[in-house]
Amino acid sequence: MTHTPYIGRFAPSPSGPLHFGSLVTAVGSFLQAKSVDGRWLVRIEDIDPPREMPGADTIILKQLRKFGLNWDGDVIYQSCRHASYQRQIDRWLDQGHAYYCQCSRKEIKQRGGIYDGHCRNRHLTWGAIRLHCPSPAAGFLDRLQGWISLDNALAHEDLVIRRSDGLYAYNLAVVVDDIFSEITEIVRGSDLLEPTARQCNIYRMLKAKEPTYLHLPLVCDAKGHKLSKQNHAPALDPYHVLEQLHDALAWLNHPVPTRWEKDPPHQLLSKMAKIWNYRDIQSTSVS
Ligand code: GLU
Ligand code: ZN
Repeated sequence: MTHTPYIGRFAPSPSGPLHFGSLVTAVGSFLQAKSVDGRWLVRIEDIDPPREMPGADTIILKQLRKFGLNWDGDVIYQSCRHASYQRQIDRWLDQGHAYYCQCSRKEIKQRGGIYDGHCRNRHLTWGAIRLHCPSPAAGFLDRLQGWISLDNALAHEDLVIRRSDGLYAYNLAVVVDDIFSEITEIVRGSDLLEPTARQCNIYRMLKAKEPTYLHLPLVCDAKGHKLSKQNHAPALDPYHVLEQLHDALAWLNHPVPTRWEKDPPHQLLSKMAKIWNYRDIQSTSVS
């Protein structure tokens, strides 16, 4: 029997340099791939220019190299993939699975906050584009967090796949690209648990095999807020690479054995890949 080789990925948005929380995600997904001799790809998710910082992609790639997180193959930029997203949207529009919607955020809120399919049969010709999935997924299995069920109303909500400003939606781009790159497992932060459930519906519509999922617990600051670029989490410090790498590994419950403490990042990571076991990561309950 042949088995599919493991292909994982790290998919940062170039809205700023990587911080400690993103390092944890990168290290977790890297080791998960390398522990089974898999490939680890990097994809720059530059589909939302207003939220991006010019040059952040170069900084991120430099940070990854510095931390020994060497990726396989070429880096994929989502800004080069628009034709694939549009082709899929056109197909769904033709098939009647996707439709234009002109409801404002305010109107949706007034109708209860969850989109009710208002424009599904209005035959509009401009606006945001939504996808209707006739048999939505009830949830998905996460390797660390177990079964994640999705609120029924949310599961049935017709997803925006292209925004009214013409930008492609993250949920669409991420699924089209993960299928394109033949990703077998997605390791990312638990802040993306809800979008994952929605993305399962896109896999269904594409009749594509879903990857397995592993959502890492989130790194929070002293006040309990998720470390993020929006919360001004400090960028990784290029002068203390080993310390931060050791901290990230300890945070993932894989403290570095004393005898490896002086190893350069790449060497350390290949040794850690041999003893990595995702089950040792502490899963936090998600509410
Ligand atoms: N680009 C997303 C972010 O930086 C991650 C997407 C993903 O891993 O699926 O939060
Ligand atoms: Zn609408």
